[in-house]
Formats: sequence, C-alpha cells, structure tokens
Amino acid sequence: MSYIKKNENIEKLKEAGLKVTHSRCKILELFQNSPDEHYTADKLKDILTDNGETIGLATIYRVLTQLEMADLIQKNNFQENHSAYELKKSHHDHLICTKCGSIIEFVNEDLEKLQEHISKKYNFSLESHVMTLFGNCNKKDCKNLK
Ligand SMILES: [Zn+2]
Ligand SMILES: [Zn+2]
Repeated sequence: MSYIKKNENIEKLKEAGLKVTHSRCKILELFQNSPDEHYTADKLKDILTDNGETIGLATIYRVLTQLEMADLIQKNNFQENHSAYELKKSHHDHLICTKCGSIIEFVNEDLEKLQEHISKKYNFSLESHVMTLFGNCNKKDCKNLK
C-alpha cells in the first residue's frame, strides 16, 4: 500500500465522520485495491486472514455497515443472506453467472432511459433501480459452484 493511498483512506474515513481504526482502514483498502470486485463478508475474512490480519467476522460486518452508511461502499443483495459489497462507483447493473459466480458490470443507456419513460408513464418519481441478470457466462473456465 502506497503512502498516498493510506492518506487517502484516512481522509475518506474522516470526511465520513468515522474514526480512523486499523480494521476500517484495512477493509476500505481492500475495496480500493480491487474496485471491480464484489466481496462477501466471508470472502473478506479469507483475504484478511491471508494477509495476516486477525479481524473477526462480527467486526467485518460492523465495518461494512459503517462504510456503507458513509457511502464509501455499496451493498448488493444478489443472493439471500449473501450480500456482496463493492467500492462505491457510478451507477451500473450486473450480470451474474449462476454456475461460477462471476459478475459482469454493465451500463446501458437505452435501459436507463426506458426506466425513466416507464416511471413517467405511471407518474412515478424514479429514485433508483436494481437490475441483476442471472444466467451462464459461457467462459471456458466457468466452473460449477461448490
Ligand atoms: Zn458492481
Ligand atoms: Zn460462469
């Protein structure tokens, strides 16, 4: 982790009104280092353990909630009881492979406009939407989930 990145993290946490703790820094750092990843709490625990960190699952869940409330990360409910968290980015939707679990992010302007159009038709003020498409990725290395 570079010095600049570490400072950035500290600033982000401070801006969000969160005290700069070791676990908050470490977890936010993981998201910033992998902006395309979608992590479950269990996956984060594995990565942290591999990095020699001893941060418990309860703490991870608590930090995830705090980072989400601070708008630094986004919580996705792709599966029941298995939220996937990612670094907060601009709006995008997801394609998820039900065989290997790989996640593809996409943005489609037509789809976005269509939703505005539908909302207008029903005199509805659109605030947000969640679009998740499930299927098979058809990649050569697509493996069945355990
Ligand atoms: Zn995403
Ligand atoms: Zn797949």
